[in-house]
Amino acid sequence: MNELLDKLPGIEPGWVWLTGAGPGSTGLLTLLALRGLQTADVVVYDALVDQEVLGLARPGAGLEYAGKRGGKPSAKQPDISLRLIQLAREGKRVLRLKGGDPFVFGRGGEEALSLVGAGVPFRVVPGISAGIGGLAYAGIPVTHRDCNHAVTFITGHDANGIMPEAVDWASIARGSPAIVLYMALKHIDQISTRLMQEGRSAGEPVAVVSKATSSEQRVLEPTLGVCAADIAASGMEPPAIVVVGEIVRLRAALDWLGAIDGRVLQPDPLGLRRQVQTG
Ligand code: SAH
Repeated sequence: MNELLDKLPGIEPGWVWLTGAGPGSTGLLTLLALRGLQTADVVVYDALVDQEVLGLARPGAGLEYAGKRGGKPSAKQPDISLRLIQLAREGKRVLRLKGGDPFVFGRGGEEALSLVGAGVPFRVVPGISAGIGGLAYAGIPVTHRDCNHAVTFITGHDANGIMPEAVDWASIARGSPAIVLYMALKHIDQISTRLMQEGRSAGEPVAVVSKATSSEQRVLEPTLGVCAADIAASGMEPPAIVVVGEIVRLRAALDWLGAIDGRVLQPDPLGLRRQVQTG
């Protein structure tokens, strides 16, 4: 294992690695992310990066917080990009560590553009995005042949903190059988109402997965019609993913994490009675 890691490239002086840390569980880091942690002089990390992951950084590496979550001091985006450029120009090996995947609602693109503009060399290390890996930990496949041939990932609020009006909700309601919402808790009332106005049924299954893949993961399974009220009553906290669609029904069969705790799995959650020959 260590030999394998040693064969991977490490961060070079003056480089920035824009790296995804995955949705939470340390086990979901990629080997390249681990390699970045082992070779970084400075780790510039976001709020969603787990402390245990940071614990894998090389002893002596600088750890700089650049999150922007409510309650904590927040770094502005241009400040973060400037800081990355400054560190790289000092000849540091810089690991920019972000939750999930850096290019999925993570402003990784903006930071990368700044680096290009400044002539700073960089590498992108993808990570497991919460809207895919987090759902897998809830026992929900993001695509399933019997349910959906397409899936849409949407942010629940835009740069101004309001429900994104640039999203074509009518087309999505009509054309996307599965809808995965990031940052959706704040506006879930408006979003669910809008989806129903545009034709989605109030009885459609919904799952809300908070703190996915961590030891504090919680899953709620309401319907579209009651999801806003159920979320409010549950006291569920961000970060959370909301998924709307028939794929949620598969959880009755595929909640493998629940099964470890004794949940009895239902082999035919879609009622298709399709049998696999076991010989
Ligand atoms: N780049 C990240 C997303 C950043 S936006 C990724 O690819 O996953 C932040 C949003 O991601 C949160 O508001 C939440 O909707 C989602 N998210 C991130 N980590 C999560 C987790 N462990 N559990 C549930 N949702 C998570």
